[in-house]
Amino acid sequence: MTEGVPHLQAEHIFSGLSDYQHALSSHMDWLRHWYSAVLNWGEEPPRGVDRTACTFDAWFGGATGSLLGGYAGFAKLGELHDEVHDTAERITGRVSTGQTVTTSDYEAMMALVLAFSTAAQTLEREVWRTLATVDPLTGLGNRQTMMSQLVSERDRAIRLAQPCCVGLGDIDHFKKINDTFGHAAGDRVLRAVSDCLRGAVRPYDILYRYGGEEFLVCLPAATLEAGALVLERMRAAVQQMNMKDDAGRKIVVTATFGLAELTADQSVEETLERADNALYDGKRAGRNRVVLYSDDGREK
Ligand code: GH3
Ligand code: MG
Ligand code: MG
Repeated sequence: MTEGVPHLQAEHIFSGLSDYQHALSSHMDWLRHWYSAVLNWGEEPPRGVDRTACTFDAWFGGATGSLLGGYAGFAKLGELHDEVHDTAERITGRVSTGQTVTTSDYEAMMALVLAFSTAAQTLEREVWRTLATVDPLTGLGNRQTMMSQLVSERDRAIRLAQPCCVGLGDIDHFKKINDTFGHAAGDRVLRAVSDCLRGAVRPYDILYRYGGEEFLVCLPAATLEAGALVLERMRAAVQQMNMKDDAGRKIVVTATFGLAELTADQSVEETLERADNALYDGKRAGRNRVVLYSDDGREK
């Protein structure tokens, strides 16, 4: 199955990245100071050569439960940081007792510092890759990622002779929600609907923000009948949301859904058009409903 896009919000990632940069730079400052202290060791033991002068640990502890902490490269970076400091401590111990620092000590330290820098770059690259695939407002997959993943899902369905459906959802009268409660409230509705849809899909379904107030869900291994059940669950969940504006006024939110099956004789674009046609029929029929596309006309 195509790997889903993590549910991350861009603003959280950006603030996480900024703290991360500070922690890295504190570690590099500590390292520069440590090298200089070891090379110019005098009578008095220098300050700031022990691990507590580096704020990376404090950052790492705080970030463990954060979004950044969910990346595979995060744990690796923590391990390498430990190793850098353990090795530095060993070398500091030698220097402070008048022993010679061997070339292999320095080489070990150099190798660890390099490995740490590489791990830091890799983690950063992973995070940027996520940012390029995620819609910043909702944290759902963005449209650019969607097309290539839908093509893969269609290929996979054909290869495995399994069904696969796509559903399109569109919030009803969203313009009126914006006009009545303001654009910021509209944004909150978009986020709430995204969270609500996430809760209603199966673990292997993939959700995207398709456009302004439109969502797409890819439903692997689902026939039209099974897909309709998922969309009905999504529709009901949106209707049951209990949203209020800052003044406590209730914001009524509903959405209409259209469903079509990805098939070997239709391109992804054609299937999306079918789902869109079904959705349009749902709008015309009164909104807040799920409509299935079928060749012989469309039916609820
Ligand atoms: P319908 O039931 O037929 O779908 O009506 P609608 O009002 O939902 O549809 P329409 O296409 O007329 O309006 C969609 C509105 O969504 C217009 C646009 O300003 C708003 N919109 C698009 N993107 C965003 C966004 O990111 N935030 C907010 N707050 N509004 C958005
Ligand atoms: Mg729309
Ligand atoms: Mg709409």
